[in-house]
Amino acid sequence: MSPVTNYRAPGLLINGQWRTGRHAMTMPIVNPATAQTLDHLHLASSEDIDQALEAAQTGFDAWRQVAAHERCARLEKGVARMRQKTEEIATLLTLEQGKPLSEARAECVMAADLIKWYAEEARRTYGRIIPARLPNSSMQVHKQAVGPVAAFAPWNFPLVLSARKIGGALAAGCSIILKAAEETPASVAAMIECFREELPEGALQLLFGVPAEVSEQLIASPIVRKVTFTGSVPIGRHLAQLTAKHLKRITLELGGHAPVIVCADADIDKTVAMMVAHKFRNAGQACLAPTRFYVDRSIEGHFREAFVSASHRLVLGDGMASSTQMGPLANARRVAAVRDLIGRSVQAGAQSHQGSSPESGFFVPVTVLTNVAPDAPVMTEEPFGPVATLTPFDNIDHALQLANQSSYGLAGYLFTDSARAVHRVSERLEVGSLAINGMGVSVPEAPFGGVKDSGYGSESGIEGMEAFLDTKFIHHCI
Ligand code: NAD
Repeated sequence: MSPVTNYRAPGLLINGQWRTGRHAMTMPIVNPATAQTLDHLHLASSEDIDQALEAAQTGFDAWRQVAAHERCARLEKGVARMRQKTEEIATLLTLEQGKPLSEARAECVMAADLIKWYAEEARRTYGRIIPARLPNSSMQVHKQAVGPVAAFAPWNFPLVLSARKIGGALAAGCSIILKAAEETPASVAAMIECFREELPEGALQLLFGVPAEVSEQLIASPIVRKVTFTGSVPIGRHLAQLTAKHLKRITLELGGHAPVIVCADADIDKTVAMMVAHKFRNAGQACLAPTRFYVDRSIEGHFREAFVSASHRLVLGDGMASSTQMGPLANARRVAAVRDLIGRSVQAGAQSHQGSSPESGFFVPVTVLTNVAPDAPVMTEEPFGPVATLTPFDNIDHALQLANQSSYGLAGYLFTDSARAVHRVSERLEVGSLAINGMGVSVPEAPFGGVKDSGYGSESGIEGMEAFLDTKFIHHCI
């Protein structure tokens, strides 16, 4: 049984205290499986944001002085608390976001793992010594926390995408103001609460608000020194313009439209089983979701049959039910957007192989599109839903040409045992992460980020830590 019976929208965490937002507007939080309102969220006013900014500066002044070993130990205590509360946090996530409870638990574990990895990395933010040019002198490179961070995380993986930002910033010695997604506030608040006692007031703060108001105020403030955002390309472009105006560093993770290249020698059953699970995880609302399947023409018919039939066997339903394999989309506007994308693509000539879905709630049936023209809407716009396309290719260079047509470049997948194909695709596929005969493109210890319209900069890995550090050269003559 769920340990959460009464859902409550959280407050804002400002200067170490939970409090109610003072904006005139509130926002309903809706359970996407039932379309019922769970509660109303109070948003941050301009005064709330100003107070968070002031506290972020004092929080930074205190936290940067905590030794790296101690920062690691305190973050690890928060991680341990998070692991104890997995069931509670996961239940909140399923109620407000819709994903099956098993996926919500896995997300909570992944978020804890991310912060744990960053915490350990705090002890390894090495600088370097450069051989000195002059006698009686030293030349050193120091790594120092960049300062207060403004972070923006979306609703599809609210825990993991917030943890990537919180973990890196705090491990580096920065303070952080996180504006998490207003649609999924309670799970993130429950995660943040696990760390509150371990940190100086103001080191970690949580806001919900009118997104454009919050980002404009935070980015314009001289207190904020670094910005990090996960979300859509248009909002990424807008924030890049704002940060350019104020000369702030920004990391942008803006989604993807991942190609999957399946060569003639691939094990079809294994590939289908793995890719159906990966494609429809979180109802396809994942930036790294495999989406454009390019299959060697000699096996395309066999692959199509196996893929469509495995996809249509998935059980759709309320994420709280143990039988559910795919939940609803996270909100009503995603349902409208995905249905519209499928409709326009069918009008452009695609053939739709669609499963069934529950009547109530924000569901879209699992949909596989074949005979898709390279310029069909579904090939150029990120589907961000339970939609996959299947296209045959003639040889590996043809597959690469089709795969690289997209303006996105986040994740990619390849299934083959051919060393030649592995080499060619590793060299030429325009993506930030490539998985070969697997799906693990995102792990805490490796960088995750995109090329082209998928954004710039990396999260996770040593590159993710570097994003929160300044480099200082010190030339000391004695
Ligand atoms: P959206 O573009 O309105 O919002 C995307 C995210 O940015 C949300 O979390 C939102 O709260 C935030 N946001 C919006 N305006 C902002 C602003 N001015 N300042 C700061 N944050 C702001 O889109 P949406 O309807 O939530 O999702 C639509 C598309 O966004 C999806 O189809 C997908 O392509 C993309 N998306 C990508 C990711 C990802 O993991 N990269 C996550 C969520 C959404």
